[in-house]
Amino acid sequence: MNLRTDLFIGGRWRPGTDGGRLDVVDPSDLSTITRFAVATERDCMDAVDAAAAAASSWAATAPRERGELLRAAYEILTAETEEFAELIVRENGKSWPDAVGEAHYAKEFFRWFAEEAVRVPGDHRLSPSGDKRIVVERQPIGVSLLITPWNFPAAMATRKLAPALAAGCTTVLKPAAETPLTAAYVVEVLRRAGVPDGVVNLVTPTPPGPAVRRMIDRPEVRKLSFTGSTEVGRELLRACADGVVSASMELGGNAPLVVLPGADLEPAVEGAVLAKMRNGGAACTAANRFYVHASVHDEFVARMDAALSAFTTGPGLDRAHTLGALVSPAERDKVAALVDAAIADGATLVRGGRARSDGAFYDATLLTGVVHGSAITTAEIFGPVTAVVRYEDVDEAVRMANDTVHGLMAYVFGEEREAMAVARRLEAGMVAVNRGVASDPAAPFGGVKQSGLGREGGAEGILEFLEEKYIALTA
Ligand code: NAD
Repeated sequence: MNLRTDLFIGGRWRPGTDGGRLDVVDPSDLSTITRFAVATERDCMDAVDAAAAAASSWAATAPRERGELLRAAYEILTAETEEFAELIVRENGKSWPDAVGEAHYAKEFFRWFAEEAVRVPGDHRLSPSGDKRIVVERQPIGVSLLITPWNFPAAMATRKLAPALAAGCTTVLKPAAETPLTAAYVVEVLRRAGVPDGVVNLVTPTPPGPAVRRMIDRPEVRKLSFTGSTEVGRELLRACADGVVSASMELGGNAPLVVLPGADLEPAVEGAVLAKMRNGGAACTAANRFYVHASVHDEFVARMDAALSAFTTGPGLDRAHTLGALVSPAERDKVAALVDAAIADGATLVRGGRARSDGAFYDATLLTGVVHGSAITTAEIFGPVTAVVRYEDVDEAVRMANDTVHGLMAYVFGEEREAMAVARRLEAGMVAVNRGVASDPAAPFGGVKQSGLGREGGAEGILEFLEEKYIALTA
């Protein structure tokens, strides 16, 4: 594959103005894959200029045409799934099945928003006094800054680019420093699909803080769509306050998974494995804390142990492995430290607990006797660690599940009516009932509490990039 390693500004691939480069590392063997251009603040200003210059003609492009360009990008990604997945594996480290899963999930946002581009709703009503007609139109919000994390380097980019472009907004994409290659590939696919110059721009300022702040301060930038940690999200919300920039925030999670008394353990364990192990646990939606009722606890743990024993850890390019590397040795060490602390707090290590030094690998791990409130239940683990807390009373389980500042995802397993009743009590933007995965481009994805603001995907996702305009007409 012909890797793109430069910035993309105004329809042209170019190096950063000071020639700086940063290493892109393969987490499975810690080798350097290539060196990617670092964007200076000047480059970032150029990207905003390019997006601003293209804004009015893109907004005026017919919705059908915008949709067809997104559809063309979807077709390219479909034809190139293998290369796409390989790129994700190389810089992110995830397993081959996870990378193929992400490639499919990522391209579906282009298809979904190609269809949504032509369905933007408006409204027309008579005022109650009868003196006027109220016409409500939706217009593109303006230049949009899109910031994405490393854990889903493709899907987090397409989940923002697709609705922004469908809505008629021009964009500046800033991917995570760990995974710029996948983002650059997606941008190149949009270029090949025929998206005009300036509509999509790509910059990689490193460190990101000062340049991102300057972009947010530009009056042309009217939207920040951020996915990443709550800590950085909070900082960026403050930066948005000065220019009253609209902000959508997809932030950290700490998903509880509740197994109710009488749950059918076969589907429960199948779902729990997916909820935990998809993407090696490096998902904002990953089940982080398992609350298992005493009546089913021992059997659940035995079945989970057996299911986890089937995972083999190794490089994703060796397609047989089902658990890849974490994104970096630092992430691996963070997971190891959380497991060690949990054991020191009294948890029992049933399986795993082993870090490997030949790459950023950490084995599938199972802990029981975890104490609610200990670090492993309050931190986002972001690794393949199942931490089980035993409970006696369902009300207590709900209380513990809600005992967090986060509220992105939650899982419940049990008889459907009981599980639905619990689902309604959980403080989360999304709840999966008797299943291990909820994400779907056609569904509104997002969190409550400190997990975020706004929604991506579904009919809601495009609205984040549109603003209502009310026009008053004489009756
Ligand atoms: P992160 O917050 O460190 O970084 C996210 C992005 O912000 C990266 O592009 C990074 O370069 C940039 N960034 C970092 N500091 C910045 C600053 N001061 N100013 C401007 N930009 C800055 O997160 P991460 O470690 O890349 O990703 C993991 C986090 O993302 C987890 O907390 C996870 O839960 C969250 N996440 C959330 C969702 C969701 O949809 N809610 C999805 C995926 C990941």
